[in-house]
Amino acid sequence: KRLLAGLTKTRDNFVKNMDYIFRGFTNIDDEFYEELEEILIMGDIGVTTTENILEDLKRKVKEQKIKEPAECKELLIESIRQQMDIGEAAYEFENRTSVVLVVGVNGVGKTTTIGKLAAKLRAQNKKVLLAAADTFRAAAGQQLKEWANRSQVDMIGGQEGSDPASVVYDAVSAAKARGCDVLLIDTAGRLHNKKNLMEELRKINNIVDREFPEAYRETLVVLDGTTGQNALNQAKEFSEVTDLSGIVLTKLDGTAKGGIAVAIQAELGIPVKYIGVGESIEDLEKFNAEEFVNALFY
Ligand code: GDP
Repeated sequence: KRLLAGLTKTRDNFVKNMDYIFRGFTNIDDEFYEELEEILIMGDIGVTTTENILEDLKRKVKEQKIKEPAECKELLIESIRQQMDIGEAAYEFENRTSVVLVVGVNGVGKTTTIGKLAAKLRAQNKKVLLAAADTFRAAAGQQLKEWANRSQVDMIGGQEGSDPASVVYDAVSAAKARGCDVLLIDTAGRLHNKKNLMEELRKINNIVDREFPEAYRETLVVLDGTTGQNALNQAKEFSEVTDLSGIVLTKLDGTAKGGIAVAIQAELGIPVKYIGVGESIEDLEKFNAEEFVNALFY
């Protein structure tokens, strides 16, 4: 399975630690719980989510009168699943006329993700258009253009320093005129200037609302999985700037910090929709919490 292959490092780390905790301990006592807590936190599950998981686990252990550490492994898995359970992630934009805004700071893999998504949609016979609305960085438009070529879709861009909103206006007009199914918009991710970013995204959203009211809307935030807790913080900051409908967690192939997916989905209540598991065009997978948790333990 590609999902498993992409999660090797996270999985190896977790499986080893779980083996240690469930085989190495003979009693379910404070020491056991402390060790488990440390392993979950070190595994980037996040402090808050870890506390919630342990509280739930302790309650279940008590209720079911479990005595052996090995017996509570399944309960732990169940608790993690429950923390992540925020309902089915919807992929409606894949089947409707949609405008997808993609946000995220520089370097997280935003352009790559847009390219991969475009290729995925193209493979489903969708007509895709890209908009290079990150007009702040000179290279951004050029880089997106390369991905547009690679995934064989068109792109609308603007001059460096031009108004992102005007690029979006042109892109929306083109998407409607050409009968496109999905318009993917790359935006500048200047989180260090939140007020400007908020204003820029608000303007972009207004234009889409006004010019393309019938389109289904989605805002995805791209986060670098290798940054662990930092990714969680970025997700929080972006959610303060604009409404987010989904998360893309990239670079999980190179990190043992994949547990951050649990923390992000549980703490923010926003579904992780895709994970990036490599640099190639096909290295984007739909995220499934159930499969993900299974991959961590078995
Ligand atoms: P942007 O600045 O956010 O647009 O980031 P880019 O799309 O340019 O990606 C930054 C770097 O991360 C590039 O070298 C990409 O090849 C790499 N990258 C993106 N996604 C992944 C992924 O899922 N796995 C790995 N290993 N590398 C990735």
